Amino acid sequence: MNRTIAEVVVVGGGPVGLTAAIALANAGVETALVAMAGTVDDNRTTALLASSVTALDTLGVWARCADQAAPLMRMRLVDDTARLLRAPEVCFDAAEIGLPAFAYNIENRHLLAALEARARDIPSLQSIAAKAENITVGDSDIVISLSNSGQVSAGLAVGADGRRSLCRAAAGIETESRRYPQTALTFNLAHARPHGETSTEFHTASGPFTLVPLPGLRSSLVFVVDPADVPRLTALDDAGLAGEIERRSHSLVGKITIEPGRGVFPLGAEVARRFGQNRIALVGEAAHVMPPIGAQGLNLGLRDAATIGELVVATRRDGGDVGSRELTDRYERMRRADVTSRSLAVDLLNRSLLSDFLPLQGARGLGLYLLDQIGPLRRAVMREGVAPAASQPRLMRGEAL
Ligand SMILES: Cc1cc2nc3c(=O)[nH]c(=O)nc-3n(C[C@H](O)[C@H](O)[C@H](O)COP(=O)(O)OP(=O)(O)OC[C@H]3O[C@@H](n4cnc5c(N)ncnc54)[C@H](O)[C@@H]3O)c2cc1C
Repeated sequence: MNRTIAEVVVVGGGPVGLTAAIALANAGVETALVAMAGTVDDNRTTALLASSVTALDTLGVWARCADQAAPLMRMRLVDDTARLLRAPEVCFDAAEIGLPAFAYNIENRHLLAALEARARDIPSLQSIAAKAENITVGDSDIVISLSNSGQVSAGLAVGADGRRSLCRAAAGIETESRRYPQTALTFNLAHARPHGETSTEFHTASGPFTLVPLPGLRSSLVFVVDPADVPRLTALDDAGLAGEIERRSHSLVGKITIEPGRGVFPLGAEVARRFGQNRIALVGEAAHVMPPIGAQGLNLGLRDAATIGELVVATRRDGGDVGSRELTDRYERMRRADVTSRSLAVDLLNRSLLSDFLPLQGARGLGLYLLDQIGPLRRAVMREGVAPAASQPRLMRGEAL
């Protein structure tokens, strides 16, 4: 039997698992990455906040995909609910807080290709193309049986295996989850008029309809709808769908052409009750799933990856056990506030859109009005959005581990 021994094993080769593995191995930690070959076509894009870009740059990833990303210099929020109490339009400009852009939007496939290429370059990172099938937690290590009949053992497993995480189950960690009466449809579009590096989020009564710039005359769209509308919208041919999107976007970017590939994602939120125990630390969607509102999910996941990397490197430097209870407890403490505050903010914004309760709509309108009118408040919110005060791991500050 083929047995690999590593200091840390990362399970899952999505964007978060790859980032965690690169961060660890780049700092000299002997790392094994167990990654199944991709099976699903992902046409999604991700708006990477400036601090996430700094981390990817520090890890030598960003230079490999920067030319595939579009800067988001401005973010516009438009109340398109036609309700009695509507919020004013608010526009945030990155220049107001001295940044060239709030975020950079990139197709997931380009980001993954850059991460995979970087991972191949690092000698202390061993990638194993297999599925993790069984996990046994011992006193001094963790042993993972693989679909290729091999085994990996390590002091710590980083569970980056997505929302149906085997690592989470092996650690004995439960989740709290909720479903939303919403489905996100994702498309990429070519359009006639320039987007002006501005992301526009129309708030509708069924959820946000968000156009996010891609390089050139292209944008990605996250279109959150009532599940009852999904059969009709998915049955539309490209021309019919383009017409519907032009109408809903008030022809903001002119004539639209739908690119191949459509995604359909029922929305829900799920947060693990603990982010680590029993020699397992959870990162990315294994730890938290949230609706695609406000571009939070992967950015949080990258902060998880940077944090676990930082803790492992520090523990190892002090001669400690990288899978110790002390390390997983510290990881839990360092991540909880960031994840909880982001989940609550996304949930509140989403509920205020769905709710017919006038005071809640009023509060949303007032909040956005105050943001529009009060410069220091607006700038504080922008800074917090780009670089959350609750969590700035070293990589997000541009410092190596
Ligand atoms: C419509 C939509 C739009 C979004 N837009 C944004 C955005 O703009 N900004 C943002 O920050 N976030 C966004 N998100 C969230 C973001 O996509 C997720 O946070 C991110 O993809 C999670 O990455 P991950 O690596 O944790 O999980 P995944 O990408 O799910 O990767 C998990 C990996 O683990 C592998 N795996 C699973 N089980 C095993 C096993 N047993 N053995 C080996 N491998 C295994 C899987 O094959 C997969 O490769 C969006 C989400 C949606 C639905």
